Amino acid sequence: MPLHFLKTAKARTLSVKRVMRMTEEEAVAEFQKLRWPDTNGEPVCPHCDCPRCYNIRTRKIFKCSACRKTFSVTSGTIFHSAKLELRDYLGVIALFVNAVKGISALQISRDIGISYKAAFVLLHKLRESIDHARNGLKLGGEVEIDGAYYGGHVRPPNTGREGKRPDAKTAKTRKQCVLTMVARGGATVPVVVRSENTEEVLAATAKHLLPDTKVYADEHGSYDALHARYEMHRINHRLKYAEGDVSTNQAESFHSRMRRGEIGQYHRISGRLLHRYAFEMAYRSDRRRVDNGATYTELGQMALSHPVSREWKGYWQKRAPGIDKPPGVSGGAAATGGAC
Ligand SMILES: [Zn+2]
Repeated sequence: MPLHFLKTAKARTLSVKRVMRMTEEEAVAEFQKLRWPDTNGEPVCPHCDCPRCYNIRTRKIFKCSACRKTFSVTSGTIFHSAKLELRDYLGVIALFVNAVKGISALQISRDIGISYKAAFVLLHKLRESIDHARNGLKLGGEVEIDGAYYGGHVRPPNTGREGKRPDAKTAKTRKQCVLTMVARGGATVPVVVRSENTEEVLAATAKHLLPDTKVYADEHGSYDALHARYEMHRINHRLKYAEGDVSTNQAESFHSRMRRGEIGQYHRISGRLLHRYAFEMAYRSDRRRVDNGATYTELGQMALSHPVSREWKGYWQKRAPGIDKPPGVSGGAAATGGAC
C-alpha cells in the first residue's frame, strides 16, 4: 500500500531545526527572498519601486538611488519596527505552518522564548495577512456549504451530573455561526454570521459563489432559497451522510478541523476574532496536501506583502495599563485564543 502523502519525504521540505539554526545574516537573506521574490531577494524601493538600491550594512538598511529614501527589509510590512531577531519571526512562521490544528500564543511563547503578548500579536498579524490575501475569493464548479457554531462558552453550574444543564438559549445567543463554502478540489471560504438563516446564506453565496455553481447542502431550511439561483443537490443527514457524489463531507471536515482547534488549542475563541481563526483554519485545510516548505514560503510572502497592521501595531500599548485582555472579551487572556 502506498504511503500517505503526509508520511512521505516530499511532504517534509521544511524543518524548524533548519530555521532556528540560521545565522542572522541568513535570516535577513531569507526575509529578502520572501519580500522580493521577483528579483530573487534583491531590494526594491517600497517608496518608488526603483530596483537600484544599495546596502548600508552598518545600519542594516537600504538606500534608494532614485528617491534617496532609506528602508529596511521589514519597512511597511506587518513586521515593521521589528523588535525580535528576524530568525525568530521565521521560526514562528515555521511553527505556525507545521501545526495543522492551530497553535496557541502560549505555546509559541514557550517554543521561541518570547513574551506571550509578542506571540499573541504576531499570530494575529499572520492571521490578518491570510484574511487579507484570501478575502475576495470566488468559488465555482462544485461547492459544498454547511454551517457550525463556535465560541460563546457558558460555564456549567457546579451541580453535578444530575444538575441543571447550561441554558441552551443563552449559549446559542453568544455563539456565532461559521458558514463555510468549500469548492471540491479548490478553496475554502468561511463567513461568520449570527445564525444559519436564509438571509445570511443568500448574502454569503451571492458574494462568494459564481453564477453557474453546483451547490451541495444538507436539508437545513436556510438553503431552500438557493434552489432559485443554483443547481442544488441536497443530502438528508437524518438518513445518510452521502449518496453517490451528493454530500457535504468536505465542509464537515473543515468544521472538524476548526472544532479541534477550538477545543485543543484555542479553548475559547473571542467572537470579535472568530473570522480570523476561521480564515486560518480554511488556509490550513486548503494546504493540507501541500508540502510544508511551500506553505512556509507562501505564508512568509503573504506576511511580507501585507502593509503595517492598523489593528495590531502597538496593540498592547493601546490597551489600558493592567488590562491583559482585548476589548469585548470576558474571561482573561484565555478567551482570546491564547490558551493551552
Ligand atoms: Zn525610491
